[in-house]
Amino acid sequence: MKKYNFNAGPSKLPREVMEATAAACLDFEGSGLSLMEMSHRAKNFQPVVDETVALFKELLDIPEGYSVLFLGGGASLQFCMVPFNLLEHKAAYLNTGVWAKKALAEAKLFGEAVEVASSAESTYSYIPKDFVIPTDADYFHITTNNTIYGTEIRRELDSPVPMVADMSSDIFSRPIDVSKYNLIYGGAQKNLSMAGVTFVIVKDECLGKVSRQIPTMLDYRTHIKGGSMFNTPPTVPIYCALQTLKWIKKCGGVKEMERRALERAKVVYGEIDRNKLFRGTVAEEDRSVMNLCFVMNDGYKELEADFMQFATERGMVGIKGHRSVGGFRASCYNAMDMEGVNALVTCMQEFEKLH
Ligand SMILES: *Cc1c(COP(=O)(O)O)cnc(C)c1O
Repeated sequence: MKKYNFNAGPSKLPREVMEATAAACLDFEGSGLSLMEMSHRAKNFQPVVDETVALFKELLDIPEGYSVLFLGGGASLQFCMVPFNLLEHKAAYLNTGVWAKKALAEAKLFGEAVEVASSAESTYSYIPKDFVIPTDADYFHITTNNTIYGTEIRRELDSPVPMVADMSSDIFSRPIDVSKYNLIYGGAQKNLSMAGVTFVIVKDECLGKVSRQIPTMLDYRTHIKGGSMFNTPPTVPIYCALQTLKWIKKCGGVKEMERRALERAKVVYGEIDRNKLFRGTVAEEDRSVMNLCFVMNDGYKELEADFMQFATERGMVGIKGHRSVGGFRASCYNAMDMEGVNALVTCMQEFEKLH
């Protein structure tokens, strides 16, 4: 049976990305060696890193003065690396979900970290709108896409101080104005690559301003200086990321990724709103186009397990909602195609006919 992969992360990648990565794992570009057994300092590997950085800059239109890094540790390590390197006086955080909250908790270990607003009281079902960002903060941290709850900030916010963003689950899904950010980071395993690499886009100028000592490995300057080669970087995930970036470029860049995401979201949310059995879980204006969450409508709650089974039997994979929200979550990252979306919608329609 054909499988439709709606996993939240690690998640669906374009077929050709996986094929190219798998081929390189057997024979890297005709070298007779597997990518897995090659030195990261090999002459023929350096171009992989260089090209990945170049495509990051090209596709996201990253201005001069920023570095692109590939690190280990996941987005979760960035929760502490960011304040370690950037928090001197005060930092401001917008609490829009579990990941945002974790980032804030780490910042508190390093100094004053202010929660400017939170939607925790309503299971993070919306993005807070009216809040004041302290003008004396070193940075304002946001999580652009809340992977678990299915809310998203899809436009640049107005901030009196430079922003820092966790874009783990929506990077490369729309054009962004990088100049508004001192730092953007994310784990690759949602929209970019296989698990194992973390990307960081950092404005060089904002570093070196804190008075504390920073351990070498946690200092961004170490990795800028070392070209992400201070220690052994995750070579295969970087290669895989490069294949994804080439695929995005070939498809027409982030504008096209955005067009596709909006098209997918329109179809799926359209069905959630039309179908009497289901309803969405978050404020309409804040709906994520990456993680589309829905639950059984009032009066049909007892059908949840049945729909899960019904959908699974028709090839849907990974649509179970996060345990804190329940219901269903269809993660539709860049690699999700309309075939998958239509299969899910058909499934919802057929299930409705039975009830
Ligand atoms: C998945 C996710 C994380 C955690 O990423 P790791 O790479 O597992 O540390 C952090 N933030 C967001 C928004 C995520 O979706």
